[in-house]
Amino acid sequence: MSNVEKNASEQKSGMKCPQCGKFIETSIFELLTLNALECPSCHLRLSIDRMKSKPAFDALRKVQQAQQNLEEKSKYDREKR
Ligand SMILES: [Zn+2]
Repeated sequence: MSNVEKNASEQKSGMKCPQCGKFIETSIFELLTLNALECPSCHLRLSIDRMKSKPAFDALRKVQQAQQNLEEKSKYDREKR
């Protein structure tokens, strides 16, 4: 139903800066593709170690896939009509 879609689109993804504690907002896509994030507050560069955080990235990938499936499904439903 529409509630699920609303929650998914409003959910913020990102991580907390280990140096200044500011929440660094980033998209799931960026987390999966970038090698590093930069904190907008203290400009600390955080390198993303994909091997170490593989379970986390697997979980993120699942979320992203679920969102894509949802979008494709709603697109398909619209085309059917
Ligand atoms: Zn910071």
